[in-house]
Amino acid sequence: MLDQIIIKFIPQVVSLKSHSDMSKNELPPPDQIPQAPSDLSSISGFEWWRRTLQYKTGLGLTPTDKTQYENDLAYKLNEANCQACNEYKNWIFNYSPTVRFLTSEITKVDPSKTISRDNVHCDFCPDWTRAGGYHPELGILVCQNRIINKFHMEDTLSHELVHAYDDAKFQVDWMNLRHHACSEIRASSLSGECRFWNQFKQGAIKNVSRGHQECVKRRAVLSVMANPNCKDKEMAEQVVNDVWGSCFNDTRPFERIYR
Ligand SMILES: [Zn+2]
Repeated sequence: MLDQIIIKFIPQVVSLKSHSDMSKNELPPPDQIPQAPSDLSSISGFEWWRRTLQYKTGLGLTPTDKTQYENDLAYKLNEANCQACNEYKNWIFNYSPTVRFLTSEITKVDPSKTISRDNVHCDFCPDWTRAGGYHPELGILVCQNRIINKFHMEDTLSHELVHAYDDAKFQVDWMNLRHHACSEIRASSLSGECRFWNQFKQGAIKNVSRGHQECVKRRAVLSVMANPNCKDKEMAEQVVNDVWGSCFNDTRPFERIYR
């Protein structure tokens, strides 16, 4: 299941047709995906407790035991992350006004681009710095090992759904840096990722909207830098600045930035 999804996504990533959240620079090394132990009883109950004690104390622990324990621990965490991610996904699709609104707007614009819980996939992303990715044909990948809680996942999904909305509404060419930058600006601004700055409303930082804009700009530059057509940070900053005015102020399908 896990490997199937990773394999399903990777060929598209390699062909560089995908959104750069999943660019070649962020490919997970496959050998880091934790493997299921051959005997599942070794990771539960008394046996797991015994192995944990052995690992922690080092008593009678061989190098093979140590490696196996570390793999099995990563496997158990991964399973727990997978379960949590799917639970969050269901909760979000049931209750998040933002996600429900964005998905219904995407379907209204282009029913063939519909995003439902069926094409939002939770999976392990070993080496990615991002929490998710959007692929025009395959849907949305949520990195289950990067998700902190359901509200973080709601922001992550909202970000990717803005990309999906742009893809449906504006026929985005993800290899065109101006298109890509525009969607990243909108996704970071509208998803709530930069709402951290709201916490400073009554605080020391006086210009809240400047804080929000700086956060959006910084995140957009990082995403554009991962585009294979982007040479360096200066180029990404230039493109983000070029499209900033029209893209930051375009809050469609929302009336304003409210997350
Ligand atoms: Zn993005």
